[in-house]
Order: sequence, then C-alpha cells, then structure tokens
Amino acid sequence: MNHDVIVLGAGLAGLAAARDLSAGGADVLVLEARERVGGRVEQSVLPDGRLVQLGGEVVGRAHTAYLALAAELGLTLVPSYVGEPGRMARATPEGLSTGEPPHWFGPGDEADHQQVTAEFVALARTVDPHDPWSHADATALDNLSVGAWLRSRGASAAVVRLWEIGQLALASGSYERTSLLAALRKHAAVPGDGPYDYEDWEGLRVAEGSATVALRMAGELDGRIRLGAPVEELTIRPGHCAVRMAGGESLSADAVVSALPVGPLRSVTVDGVSDARMSSLHRQRQAVAAKFTAAYDTSFWRHQGLNGLSECEGVLGSTWPQSEGILSALIPPERYGVLLGMPAALRDRELLGDIARLYGDEALRPFTSSLRMWGTDPWTQGYVTQWNPGDVMAVGPLHGTHEPPFYVCGSDQWVAGYMEGAVRTGRATAREVLRHG
Ligand SMILES: Cc1cc2nc3c(=O)[nH]c(=O)nc-3n(C[C@H](O)[C@H](O)[C@H](O)COP(=O)(O)OP(=O)(O)OC[C@H]3O[C@@H](n4cnc5c(N)ncnc54)[C@H](O)[C@@H]3O)c2cc1C
Repeated sequence: MNHDVIVLGAGLAGLAAARDLSAGGADVLVLEARERVGGRVEQSVLPDGRLVQLGGEVVGRAHTAYLALAAELGLTLVPSYVGEPGRMARATPEGLSTGEPPHWFGPGDEADHQQVTAEFVALARTVDPHDPWSHADATALDNLSVGAWLRSRGASAAVVRLWEIGQLALASGSYERTSLLAALRKHAAVPGDGPYDYEDWEGLRVAEGSATVALRMAGELDGRIRLGAPVEELTIRPGHCAVRMAGGESLSADAVVSALPVGPLRSVTVDGVSDARMSSLHRQRQAVAAKFTAAYDTSFWRHQGLNGLSECEGVLGSTWPQSEGILSALIPPERYGVLLGMPAALRDRELLGDIARLYGDEALRPFTSSLRMWGTDPWTQGYVTQWNPGDVMAVGPLHGTHEPPFYVCGSDQWVAGYMEGAVRTGRATAREVLRHG
C-alpha cells in the first residue's frame, strides 16, 4: 500500500509533523525504531504517583511553538524550578559556595563578567539566527571558540571558569569546543540580557509531564504509528519513495519526512538525495550527555535555604529540582567517559556522592534513582545539538532545509536542539509537505 507520507521517528518532531499532516488530510504512517513513542522525552511513574522525566523536561516563555502545541493538547504549563526560592550552589574541587558571587571570584571579576556579557549580547545582535552564514565575519566567528573569544576580550580566568561551569551545567559541550557563531546564533534566536536567560529557556514545565505531550499526540495518531520498526534504507524518487526497515520489509510513499536525530540518521542508507544535502546533515553532531534523577520523600535541600539548582565540577555538571522531592542532574559530554569506564552498579553511588557534597548526606539515600545514558543510546546518540568551532559554516545554509520529496525535521534542525526545535521544525515541515501537495 502506498502512503502519502512516511514519517521516520516518533519523537516530538515526527509526531508533531504527522499530526499536522493527518489534520491536513494526508495519509501518513510513522515508523519508530523503539517500542515506545517520545524519543528523548520519556517518563516513569513512582509508586506514589509522582512522574519522573528521564529526558526533555523544561521549556521557556520564548518557546512559542511548544507552548502553542501544549495548549492545543489541553496541557497545563506551570512555573519550573526557575521560580523556586533559595540560593543556588556551586561546587568545584577546591570549594563550595551558595548564592553570588562564586567562591573563586576575586575583586574586579564581577565587573569583568558584566562587561563581557554586555559585549556578547551586543555581538549577538549582529547575527541573524535564520542566516548566520551571511554575517560579514561569519567564518572568523565560527572558527573561534567561546572560551578563546572570552580571553581575547580580556576576561579573567575566574570569569572564563564561570561561563564554562554554566555551559557544562547545560551539558551541551565545553565552551572551549563551542563555536562563537553558534553561541551567538542561539542567543539571537531567544534574545535576553545574559547569554542564556533561564526564564526564556527553562521557566516552565508541563504539569502533566513533558512526555505526556508525545503520548497525547500519539493518541491522536492511533493506528498510524508502527513501533519496533527501525528504518535502514531510503530510496527517494519524485512521486515514489521506498522505505526499507530492518528485516527487509519495504513500504512506499509519495514523500518521506526524516525526524531522526542526526546520529542515527548516519546509519540509514539514503539514495536519491543530493550529496550536498546529505553531507550537510552528516556534518551535524550532538552533545553526548546523560541524565540522572534521584527521588526523595521531600525537597530536603530547602531546609538549608537552597533551591536545588547547582553547577558542579564533579562528574555531574548540574542539578535542579524537577518537582517536589525529585532532583534532576546532567552529566556533560566531557565527563560521560567517567561513567562509561566504571561498572554500571557503581555509577549511581558516584553521582549521589556529588549531590551529597552539595546538599549533605541525606542525598545519599533516595528511595529510587535512575541514570539514562542518552549519549550512547543507539536511537539517540546524543542529547542536544553541539556546534564545535567550524561546524556552522561546514553544515552551511542547507541546515534545516528540504529536498522534496525528502523532508527533514527534528530538534537538530533548529539552532540548538531542545523540544522547541523539535515542535517548531516538525510543524513547519508538515506545512511544507502540504504546500507541495
Ligand atoms: C537528558 C535530556 C534532557 C533534555 N532536557 C531538555 C529540556 O529540559 N528542555 C528541552 O527543551 N529539551 C531538552 N532536551 C532535548 C529534547 O528532549 C530533544 O531536543 C527533543 O525531544 C528531540 O525531539 P526529536 O523529535 O527531534 O528527536 P527524538 O526525540 O530523538 O526522536 C527521534 C525518534 O527517532 C527514532 N529513531 C532513531 N533512529 C531510527 C530509525 N533508524 N528508524 C526509526 N526510528 C528511529 C528514535 O527512537 C526517536 O523516537 C533534553 C534531552 C535529553 C536527552
């Protein structure tokens, strides 16, 4: 049987695309490798009914596509950890501090930090997030790392360290290996007073659980999603595309929408799409990160006046409170290998030790914890998009574009990943497919 459109991947992007295609009258089929929908959004339920988000979790007020979709699905947005009262904590090998300034700051560092922040924000205003390639200094800005740029602006070692610990807290790759142009582009897409405005990016969460966004869409697409269907080969021809799955079964469609992360897409053989389009896609990469969650009876860190938010130089890069009694934490790519190199049974203890350093020994006794190694999950191979120096120019203006009847969406096709990128590109792709008929 021939379909109008086959969508590859049932993450937020593929589901959002398929939902709009279906609403637009297209006969659509979604092929998903895993035995569940959601991709990088996934949740589990504790015995007491609390939900635990194992992947994508928070959004911000600037994430308009995601917020609009959540409203359509009848879901409720509530303030995230950003609204929590209390001080944040920072832990480094030589010390621990709460609130501002960080313990390694000396005289002049705060003013220095404000100065480079203002310069970064001003420079970002010169970058068009939709077309960073047209910037007069695009190549030079792309070849420079954020760390090298900070030093070139005279930032002290203490200030560079503050920017770096904040970046590793987000787990999207060290600023020593991040393109300045990519960082400016991300800021230009969601402008704010600092390099990363927490309200704009992370101030909200879906009360019913962020993975419920995917589950609701899948419910609407009942019967049009095939689970356990990893795609291995695509043959793209005008008006007739063939999609072969593991096991050899082949399906056909007028058009194909790839909503696969850039890592797994590399293993799919694609025939009939230009070399330029495929090599741009294959040049994209993701940060190899992991997420850890620990569930306690109460938010005990509050008793110390802390809000559960931290930036760390341990194996963990950060913690934040996900919901009452539940801490989330990220392991950045630079420290992922530490976990890979130790027996799985010891990993949770190592990570709980980092949390205990921040909040005391009570942290060692969660009633459950969970580590999700997304960076080495075969169907994800990463976390959010990472742009090393040189990557923005190498991927080039084909980033996020289509070559009908081969369409591409997914969070990697937006500036920096994130659930907003998945929803935004998924819905925009559906509009493109419908426009082409
Ligand atoms: C730990 C973690 C924390 C995060 N936190 C946040 C956050 O707080 N806020 C935020 O906005 N974003 C966050 N993100 C990012 C966000 O979750 C993702 O950017 C977004 O969910 C990706 O959606 P997607 O549809 O583009 O890709 P995915 O969700 O990865 O979906 C792709 C789908 O394709 C499937 N697939 C892969 N290969 C094949 C194949 N060969 N054949 C068929 N199917 C295949 C996969 O199984 C998957 O279901 C986080 C991500 C992670 C991992």
